[in-house]
Amino acid sequence: MSESFRAVVRTSWGYDELRPLQAEAMQAVVAGRDSLVVMPTGGGKSLCFQAPALCMPGVAVVVSPLISLMKDQVDALVDRRIAAALINSTLSADERRRVADDLRAGRVKLLYLSPERLVTEAMLHFLEQLEVSFFAIDEAHCISQWGHDFRPEYRGLRVLKERFPHLAVHAYTATATEQVRGDIVRELCLAEPEVLVGSFDRPNLIYRVAQRVDEFRQIRAVIDRHRDESGIVYCIRRADVDELCAKLNAAGYSAAPYHAGMEETARHASQEAFADERVKIVVATVAFGMGIDKSNVRYVIHAAAPKSLEHYQQESGRAGRDGLEAECCLFYSAGDFVTWRKLQQDLPAEALEASLTLLGGIERFCSAVDCRHRAIMAYFGQQAPANNCGACDTCLGDVEFVPEALVLAQKILSCVARLHENFGADYVGKVLAGSRDARILQLGHDKLSTYGLLAEHDRRHIRGWIEQLVAQQHLRKAGEYHVVQLTDSGWEVLRGNQTPQLLKPATAPRRQARVALDSWEGVDRELFEELRALRRRKAAERGLPPFVVFSDVTLRDLARRRPTTAEQMLAVHGVGQAKCDQYGEEFIAAIAAFCQRSGAATNCDAAHDDPPQAVRSPGAGKRQAFELFAQQHSIEQVCRTLGRAPSTVIGYLVDFIEHEQLDDPSAWLDRELFARIRSAAMSLETDRLKPLYEALHGSATYEQIRLAVAALRASDALQAQRPAMRTEQD
Ligand code: ADP
Ligand code: ZN
Repeated sequence: MSESFRAVVRTSWGYDELRPLQAEAMQAVVAGRDSLVVMPTGGGKSLCFQAPALCMPGVAVVVSPLISLMKDQVDALVDRRIAAALINSTLSADERRRVADDLRAGRVKLLYLSPERLVTEAMLHFLEQLEVSFFAIDEAHCISQWGHDFRPEYRGLRVLKERFPHLAVHAYTATATEQVRGDIVRELCLAEPEVLVGSFDRPNLIYRVAQRVDEFRQIRAVIDRHRDESGIVYCIRRADVDELCAKLNAAGYSAAPYHAGMEETARHASQEAFADERVKIVVATVAFGMGIDKSNVRYVIHAAAPKSLEHYQQESGRAGRDGLEAECCLFYSAGDFVTWRKLQQDLPAEALEASLTLLGGIERFCSAVDCRHRAIMAYFGQQAPANNCGACDTCLGDVEFVPEALVLAQKILSCVARLHENFGADYVGKVLAGSRDARILQLGHDKLSTYGLLAEHDRRHIRGWIEQLVAQQHLRKAGEYHVVQLTDSGWEVLRGNQTPQLLKPATAPRRQARVALDSWEGVDRELFEELRALRRRKAAERGLPPFVVFSDVTLRDLARRRPTTAEQMLAVHGVGQAKCDQYGEEFIAAIAAFCQRSGAATNCDAAHDDPPQAVRSPGAGKRQAFELFAQQHSIEQVCRTLGRAPSTVIGYLVDFIEHEQLDDPSAWLDRELFARIRSAAMSLETDRLKPLYEALHGSATYEQIRLAVAALRASDALQAQRPAMRTEQD
């Protein structure tokens, strides 16, 4: 049987392999056995019912909670020429009649409905006249009060087993807890269901957790690592959303806000713009959630701690649904937990206790210095392999322990004491750093014995250590102004009876996560960008979000294999017959033109046949390039040795410069030209390519600017260029 699934998945979806548990989940559907499938976001739940629906007689009825989600899914299926339809309030009477006719004629394989519409007498009666193959309940956790998205309408679904006792009901969710699982089985009256629970690890997500010291700078650093890619920034409060969003836009980024305080239409506009990639960044509260099935979200930033690890898993899990690497950065401060406690203080006693327990969990997760993947899995009761995950801050060695922690801590604590525990963390940090800040001079704090004690350290590190001492409860922040005070254990540290642990960013260059190195293996970045633009145009023409036309996995595979025939095109990951018919010609033309222009090879046999899996295989080409660059080989030499296009090799070189933190690119870039790009970057106060390109009036190519910018970032020249930004944060 599983062979026929594979064939359907191959021709209609263009995937060569099934993901873990998909085959089992599909078996349960064709066997007509009730099932509950729990898989993390991005695990591929939809395929579990979509593929069997095509293999079975009749129409499968899919329950989906949101109209927007439903529409995207149906659009995506129709674009693969799969007979899917929906009925909801957005249809005109005519459209509704047409769908009903198609259903009666047996021309629909998948019908999407909201729970409230499904359980109306009229709809139940209508379905009884049709041949229904099975019911699939998507986002089934909505049925449970213990989930994070309880929807009372889902409770009505118990009627399905009464009205259609001979039909199987299949439930799908990403929510892991026992309570939710139990509720789903009970409420849907599932009969001895097959329960399939996938691993909760998301190996393609790169987790980084850090204290929030200089919020805007930290957030920008992440966004800058993902130029032109889509990302989400979560804040706790609506006001934070509006403020951060405005600031990002003022700094030249394209961001849209999303929170429950906005008008429905404005919220919808933000979401659409994000899906269509007209804006790259959504700044949001937790309200931005279930409706997003955009598969190519490349990073999720938490500007503040979420309120539980469950929430963190859900929210960060919106990154990288396509299986490609994505970055999840959490910036927290001790104050976030205070904020959450305050926001939740009016909950009834029982709920309050539960929420405080959950808050404790995320607080421990933040301040721990363990593998993040392992910590998350352990929280959900699963065991991770003991090896280095290669995809989190601790395993990648982003931070290191400060050797002289006790002495450092004592200096900080005694400064707090000298300031009579009357000043905030920023102020304490400035005194320790020996700042000439007017207020410090005015109050005579430059005369304190602790003034300038840590002057040789980076100010941001000092600020971070203060937060770490708060997290380890040697200090606390008190009162309206968050003045820093010593705790009992702080005094113990001062007496030398206790030693805190202090961390600082590693001095060794930041290692790139393996997942990121490998999934770009062999991909021509410049071609990728061209194809991305083409994808955007095709999507706009058809009124579809770009990721529905082709996923990022497909786009990278196109830029890797560079097919110029329909046959080669069909070998590309995610390209089935329908996609090939619709888009093949134009993409092939673009690829052929590009390859002719740049000399890149066409119809390459990609080293990996299945990119999501190959994500974990070694990135040989890039490693070889790194070795050659280390010996100062020129770009042309490396192109020749590796047989790769210049744009690919330049992409490697940029990564190499960043990886090795080289501030002098003169081996590959003319000194005089570098100096010119540098001064343009300084005077424009930007490291963004387009404004620089324009300012240089075509005297430097994009590639040259990319190289220069990588080196400027390594030298921190651009950071020093942002004093205004920094004082604004202080
Ligand atoms: P979920 O509903 O579990 O969050 P989706 O069903 O949206 O996940 O699938 C996530 C992504 O993975 C989609 O882009 C989907 O097309 C892709 N996908 C699903 N199954 C496979 C597979 N077997 N091979 C490759 N890609 C897959
Ligand atoms: Zn790890």
